[in-house]
Amino acid sequence: MSALEVKNLTKTFDKIVAVDNASFEVPDGSIFGLIGRNGAGKTTTLRTIMGIYLQDSGEILFRGKPVDDSFKSMVGYLPEERGLYKKMKVLDTLLFFAEVKGKSGKKLEKEALKYLKRFDLLDRKLSKIEDLSKGNQQKIQFIATVLHDPDFLILDEPFSGLDPINTNLLKTIILEKKKEGKVIIFSTHLMDFAEKMCDHVAMIDNGKIILNGSMQKIKHEYAQQNVSINYEGDISFLNGHPIVEKIEDFGNTTGIRVKNANQTQELLKLLVDRNVTLKKFDANDISLHEIFIQLAGKPIEELTQEVSHV
Ligand code: ATP
Repeated sequence: MSALEVKNLTKTFDKIVAVDNASFEVPDGSIFGLIGRNGAGKTTTLRTIMGIYLQDSGEILFRGKPVDDSFKSMVGYLPEERGLYKKMKVLDTLLFFAEVKGKSGKKLEKEALKYLKRFDLLDRKLSKIEDLSKGNQQKIQFIATVLHDPDFLILDEPFSGLDPINTNLLKTIILEKKKEGKVIIFSTHLMDFAEKMCDHVAMIDNGKIILNGSMQKIKHEYAQQNVSINYEGDISFLNGHPIVEKIEDFGNTTGIRVKNANQTQELLKLLVDRNVTLKKFDANDISLHEIFIQLAGKPIEELTQEVSHV
């Protein structure tokens, strides 16, 4: 059974259609990635799920019933705009957020200290939030999101602003939560992360869901028509060739999408006949990043750069 169902969701701001008839299902016990470029509609979708925005139309169901206040109180939500009380101390902040969710006591405090230790922030437990760096404030906000041990996590761009070590730690904790049977939705424009971590994804572009389903199935389906090559020579004859749907140059690798899955061998023959030197010919190989570019248009330079940092 799906934990969460979003059905024909539309949300507009004046003339902007931020979410346009979006539908997707988040299966139980899984990590679900809502992926897309800046301004695609990810935050608006998550805020509408959380009831911060009221949708123009469409339904959001949690275990078959429309989401209500009890859903919101059981979710661990990491908002995009980070909001902590600047003058409050670190440990007090964590205990305060847990108490809002109805959790308190010695055991909880022990758990808070454990998280602070994992994030290398134990020695800052009495520091004021405003005295922490931006990245460290972000870590506190994440701990505040998970400390009350919610069964459902909604994380809006959880990796933004974190260095590679803390990014990795966050990834580990999210995977631990999945093992415990929790449901996790996170939004990201980092395709590498989504590909490695998510069981299911929905790709949103201009407010519309343009791809949706299990990561394994999506990759399998797209890979069948896709070939990655490294070559020396001239492949310009492939432009507009009847078996070629699209050619995308990624620098070191070129992705070629043929029109039908059974045309990859024909492609190989064409390249060999034209004396193209092939250093790599990898049929059935495609990354989520490549799928994203094929579906959503041109590569997004800033995204590619950010991916290469991690
Ligand atoms: P990013 O990765 O940059 O955060 P996103 O995918 O989360 O982007 P949204 O923040 O949901 O995208 O924005 C989707 C569209 O809706 C954008 O065109 C944005 O300008 C518009 N939008 C979002 N919130 C509002 C608002 N409160 N008022 C008016 N327009 C809004």
